Amino acid sequence: MRAAIFTGPRAIELGERPDPVIQEPTDAVVRVVLACVCGSDLWYYRGESPHATGSIGHEFIGVVTETGADVTSVTAGDLVIAPFIYSDMTCPHCRNGSTISCPVGGSFGNGTIDGGQGEIVRVPQAQGTLVRVPGTGHSDQVLRSLLTLSDVMATGHHAAASAGVKSGDVVAVVGDGAVGLCAVLAAHRLGASRIIALSRHPDRQKVAMEFGATDIVEARGDEATSAVMDLTGGIGADAALECAGTAQAITTAFAIARPGSTVGMVGVPHGQVPVAEAFFRNVGWRGGPAPARSYIPCLLDDVLSGTISPGVVLDYETDLEHVADAYAAMDERRAIKSLIRVGSR
Ligand SMILES: [Zn+2]
Repeated sequence: MRAAIFTGPRAIELGERPDPVIQEPTDAVVRVVLACVCGSDLWYYRGESPHATGSIGHEFIGVVTETGADVTSVTAGDLVIAPFIYSDMTCPHCRNGSTISCPVGGSFGNGTIDGGQGEIVRVPQAQGTLVRVPGTGHSDQVLRSLLTLSDVMATGHHAAASAGVKSGDVVAVVGDGAVGLCAVLAAHRLGASRIIALSRHPDRQKVAMEFGATDIVEARGDEATSAVMDLTGGIGADAALECAGTAQAITTAFAIARPGSTVGMVGVPHGQVPVAEAFFRNVGWRGGPAPARSYIPCLLDDVLSGTISPGVVLDYETDLEHVADAYAAMDERRAIKSLIRVGSR
């Protein structure tokens, strides 16, 4: 089968990988319909984080073609969403909402396990991992939004849930990539009364407002902190959502969080939590890789009912042939998030 292959920094090729087959009774084989590139893929694309040569991509939806003997939750022909982590959803870690810690779990597209940026994927632990999408004849807009539940919308939601966003809260979101924009949508969905989006890019500010943002702060660093303090009467945000992972974003998130609040952290951290500052302001933090599988069922209902359309963040599209362009478009900030059309529904 054809699949995207990572061969080194800024080197993504279309190559051949063996056709995936059932290896374990807990496996399923999925023909990929839509995939996309993630902001976290850019860390290894830019050579800033290590990644094995080989398969890539951890966000995809597709159609089941075959299941192992132990898989009963999905059958051939089902349209399914795969969270970016496969896991059994039965062990204590999965049940406690940390699927990334599942002893039999793992990541798609880690160089060895098939990645979503390919024609077909063998899905381990399919019974606990795949989510069947009810209904048929879903529009392209809905399919795009379903794809975001694999990671980016689940991660945006994880930021809001980790910070304990509740109805009436004042929320501030640091990071205007696809995750940050989905965090705005997640905070809106949870009833936040005011959502301050920190963004300097007009195209992303427009999406943030569409997703429910009430205020935009273009400044960065200390200036951003003062701007948020001005907007909140010197109090700070009831929930600050850190969605970029850079050192500056982490510092800003903790600076704009009001005393006694919790920062929701979902950006892959490339900076330090200011422990002393947080301690003396009773600011805590929660977060990490999102347990997407746990969140998909509730977000799926809202996508199918049209309550939320996170697929709007996919503002660039190409096919598997041109997967390298999908990376370049995000790397050069010509795209918020790149969609890769792989196969037909
Ligand atoms: Zn588990």
